[in-house]
Amino acid sequence: MSDLQGKTAMVLGGSRGIGAAIVRQLAAAGASVIFSYSGSPDAAAAVAAETGATAVKADSANRDELIAAVAAAGPLDIMVVNAGVAIMGDPLKLDPAAVDRLIDINVRAVYFAGVEAGRQMRDNGRIIIIGSVNGDRVPGPGFTAYAMSKSAVQGIGRGLARDFGGRGITVNVVQPGPVDTDMNPAEGPLAKMLHGIMAIPRHAHAEEIAALVLFLASPAAAMITGTTQTIDGGMGI
Ligand code: NDP
Repeated sequence: MSDLQGKTAMVLGGSRGIGAAIVRQLAAAGASVIFSYSGSPDAAAAVAAETGATAVKADSANRDELIAAVAAAGPLDIMVVNAGVAIMGDPLKLDPAAVDRLIDINVRAVYFAGVEAGRQMRDNGRIIIIGSVNGDRVPGPGFTAYAMSKSAVQGIGRGLARDFGGRGITVNVVQPGPVDTDMNPAEGPLAKMLHGIMAIPRHAHAEEIAALVLFLASPAAAMITGTTQTIDGGMGI
């Protein structure tokens, strides 16, 4: 486990799933952790009580609220932009308002949080964006809006890596495949199809994704920047 003693980390969307696992591992490594939540106050309170992290309510779909939360958390050493939503289905039938909301949370918020994190960040900081293997691969119909959003964050990651690299700040996108969370349960309707195209035919545990994030946040990862790190059990090979 890396030593993040004295570091300040913010995790956007830390109340459940992958984000909660990241909060737990950053806190266990010694970082002082602040995390945001929106719709799950009870889950957020439980993660905060368990880890000693500070929970702040901030809706990633609300730009001003989001930027204010990031600014208030600074100065930062580590920013993990994890909050995201998925909507799947026939694009001919999807509610346009739901697609707009997905773009607000999965794309606009990633851009504005990443930029504000750069403003608040000490030299040699770390920005880690949770993308998806669907930024590279689309395993079937119904993924268009989600895949669009996860391809977009690849560009944000590469761009910010160039923008902030002179200060030693690294920016990387972690791209999970199926992970057992509320968003994509291991027993859910897509599981059989997804396992059928994976070299290791199971959902990952959120802790397995958090472990990669923890490495990218560590001093050992100082020269890894502008990359996409795919962790998908061989779904994309
Ligand atoms: P969950 O639905 O289990 O958890 C989502 C987290 O994001 C919650 O903590 C939620 O907080 C937060 N969140 C969602 N919307 C907002 C918002 N508007 N403002 C603030 N926080 C918000 O999802 P996962 O843990 O599975 O997903 C986390 C990330 O990983 C997402 O970006 C997702 O796209 C990505 N991912 C997930 C995969 C999977 O198979 N599970 C695969 C590949 C990528 P709250 O409930 O408090 O609003």
